[in-house]
Amino acid sequence: MRLDSDVRYLKGVGEKRAALYRKVGVETVGDLIDYFPRAYEDWSKTKEIAETYVGENACVKAMVCFKPEKAVVRKGMTVYRTAVTDGIDVMKITIFNNRYSAEKLEEGKEYLFFGKVDGNYTTREMTNPAVAEVEGGERIRPIYSQTKDLSTKTIEKNVRQALDSVKDELAESLPDDIRKKYKLSSLAFSLENIHFPKSDYNLYCARRRLIFEELLTLQLGMMLMRGKNVKKSGCVLREDCTEEFLSLLPFEATNAQKRAIAEAMEDMRAGSPMNRLLQGDVGSGKTVVAAALIYNCAKNNIQSALMAPTEILAFQHYNTLKNLMKDSGVEVVLLTGSNTAAQKREIKNRLKSGEATLAVGTHALIQKDVEFKNLGLVITDEQHRFGVAQRGSLSQKGSDPHILVMSATPIPRTLALIIYGELDVSVLDELPAGRQQTETFSVGSELRLRAMNYVKKHVDEGYRGYVVCPLVDDEDNESSMKAAKQYADELQNGVFKNYSVGLLHGKMKPSEKENVMKRFADGEISILVSTTVIEVGVDVPEAVIIVIENAERFGLSQLHQIRGRVGRGKVKSTCILISDAKNDETKTRLRTMCRTTDGFEIADEDLKLRGPGDFFGSRQHGLPELKIAGLMSDTNIMREAQKTAKEILAEDPTLEMKKNERLRKLALKLFSKAGAQELGLKSTIKG
Ligand code: ADP
Ligand code: MG
Repeated sequence: MRLDSDVRYLKGVGEKRAALYRKVGVETVGDLIDYFPRAYEDWSKTKEIAETYVGENACVKAMVCFKPEKAVVRKGMTVYRTAVTDGIDVMKITIFNNRYSAEKLEEGKEYLFFGKVDGNYTTREMTNPAVAEVEGGERIRPIYSQTKDLSTKTIEKNVRQALDSVKDELAESLPDDIRKKYKLSSLAFSLENIHFPKSDYNLYCARRRLIFEELLTLQLGMMLMRGKNVKKSGCVLREDCTEEFLSLLPFEATNAQKRAIAEAMEDMRAGSPMNRLLQGDVGSGKTVVAAALIYNCAKNNIQSALMAPTEILAFQHYNTLKNLMKDSGVEVVLLTGSNTAAQKREIKNRLKSGEATLAVGTHALIQKDVEFKNLGLVITDEQHRFGVAQRGSLSQKGSDPHILVMSATPIPRTLALIIYGELDVSVLDELPAGRQQTETFSVGSELRLRAMNYVKKHVDEGYRGYVVCPLVDDEDNESSMKAAKQYADELQNGVFKNYSVGLLHGKMKPSEKENVMKRFADGEISILVSTTVIEVGVDVPEAVIIVIENAERFGLSQLHQIRGRVGRGKVKSTCILISDAKNDETKTRLRTMCRTTDGFEIADEDLKLRGPGDFFGSRQHGLPELKIAGLMSDTNIMREAQKTAKEILAEDPTLEMKKNERLRKLALKLFSKAGAQELGLKSTIKG
């Protein structure tokens, strides 16, 4: 038997069970060994009956006093009752509807009973306890995620079989020096003890080693993918033109903005490439910071690229930046998927010749044939929407350009370490002067008309409003959710008859989208009915009211992003969440929105409600699924692993040394599962 043998060859598995295993992602013997328990039951510390307390899960070693007595309570409900004793006290045992389990119990024989203890001051009882023979039973048992036809007991048996049959194949994957340095158990020990721990301490050691290995593998993969290991030098900005830039702004930059610009400038004047994350809540003014750096680069004859996740956003950045730089001689081009072939050719030529100093665009920027003369600064906006590898591709177009990543999402510490690795962080913790908190209301649909009249009132005063829907189109009127297309018509012909209503959704042609956005920004359109395409970054300060239909359909962080489209000027803005949903989780979410506008608080709450796995959706950030490490809980091991990864790569930048061979394989395997090899990992990691 080998690690890559099909599980069906294991004794007691066969075709049928193998099919069940495939459903949970287990195909080979190695996969089965990697199917770690989700929990454990400690049967190793048995208690005397008198020692147990009511409400706890306990394991009691006791003798069966008499053969279980059967009683039919009603049709389909049979109860077996008996009592067990440890020689001092007696505990009642009740078994419902399980003849097999009841009849197995022999009078006068000792067993282990594991279960929740019930009773009162003087009595103890257990209902449907798990029962095991004393012989070999006093141990910590693994509990696996089971499915209907695949019980945890079955999985346990198969794993035992698997471990025994490949014992000699479990070669060590971590280099000896690293294992020694961090006092990590061997692989064979760890796999044995993660499934069948001999003690709590063994389990702790096994977990620590496996988490370390997984996070180390993850870090190595990420670093290789980024090419972080190679020593680099970035272009140096000789002149600092920040003052000049700030004087071009129609407003005074906030102190936070000035600080972030200064931090980045210090990096860019120092000689090695900048790697910086710019974190700031919606509306904190990240674009200004980006613009300042771009301006500085341009003045030093260095090209910049700004990549946005959507065309609308790219277009908007393009306009903003072009406006800001119009008198400064900075040539700006916009490159998106919707340029014509001729336009593209021209833009590419201008970038290649260096005639254009700033390229704004979508992922169209990372296509192979886009070349720069001297790309020195790469900025990505709303970063986590890009795959990790996409970010890397843009940097490769320059020779070690400075990198600035902008994100509005407050990111949990561990996740930040993984996604951003060793990026330095600047935080915009201050909103521009004069901003007022957006007031948020959550209402049922019976108040929709009032909400819309409130929108009208604002439009009458010269402002603009958004109405956001979860769906684009619902031609057959089948959904109970609002669809932007039909709803825009309904509103235009109904409450907003005398107003100009616009429509914006992701399925429109980019040129149509741009056109609508422009008319909305200019005030030609007063009320914009939209899907979540406006969620990211859209900036029209005159829009001061937003109505979100079917608010229950959106996650907390998403609602926060959508709401961030208003409250971008000096006027107090309003957000109205419409929802008829009654369940508690939804209500908590909507209440949180009404209570706070603080992005960090909202992200925290979001994590609590959804758990870290869902925080971004793993596809979005391009990270592989982890099987044992917790993104929130294993920060310390994460740090060690990160340090180790750096040490390993410092000695062996492409993992070609013999002792690192298995690590390289593991990294490849982890990332190929996430689909990252299509994104260029294979070409970076040789093997
Ligand atoms: P975000 O951080 O959400 O990307 P933006 O960069 O889009 O924020 O800025 C939000 C709005 O605030 C824009 O309209 C921008 O012009 C404006 N703004 C940015 N900085 C300042 C400032 N210091 N004073 C006043 N308004 C500002
Ligand atoms: Mg933005």
